[in-house]
Amino acid sequence: MNIILLGAPGSGKGTQAAFLIEKHGLTHLSTGDMLRAEIAAGSDLGKQAKAIMESGQLVSDEIVIAMIAARLGDKGALFDGFPRTIAQAEALDKLLTGRGSQIDTVIELQVGNEEIVQRMLTRGRSDDNEATIRQRLAVFEAQTKPLTDYYQKQGKLRSIDGSGELAAISARIEAALH
Ligand code: ADP
Repeated sequence: MNIILLGAPGSGKGTQAAFLIEKHGLTHLSTGDMLRAEIAAGSDLGKQAKAIMESGQLVSDEIVIAMIAARLGDKGALFDGFPRTIAQAEALDKLLTGRGSQIDTVIELQVGNEEIVQRMLTRGRSDDNEATIRQRLAVFEAQTKPLTDYYQKQGKLRSIDGSGELAAISARIEAALH
């Protein structure tokens, strides 16, 4: 089973991902975590990505697609923060088709922008200041939101309310998967 968690920055993808990988034995593939690991390791890629991430823009499709391609295994995957553009979604479909696999379900976590800004300001990551958060929300609207149409057309989109108690959100996701 391959699942995509789709949602704005701060919508709770990472938190719900941790629960889903445990419950369903999936491999967690978070491009944000991979990029932060590159930064922590001081690699060339990390050095390139750092400024882009801190400005709230997206790292190039080529870089994140290559990171994902290198990590696809035999187990089902939970994609968290990827794909973020139509080009990434198309590349992912090709990668999976080439392996005789496919995306099964896309879970969209819906959370209002003001709740997101409040949540992220308490999280305190280095790219979590208010100006960057607003920039990332704008990038999400422009570049990632169109993916809901893309997956809706494939009949794979399940949109759920991502606000409220963590356990309640997890329960909504489980219901959407069955
Ligand atoms: P959040 O969902 O809270 O924004 P992420 O960890 O998913 O956090 O992403 C942090 C940053 O990493 C993004 O703002 C972007 O700069 C970069 N990034 C992560 N995933 C991708 C991706 N799939 N494509 C392009 N850039 C990405």
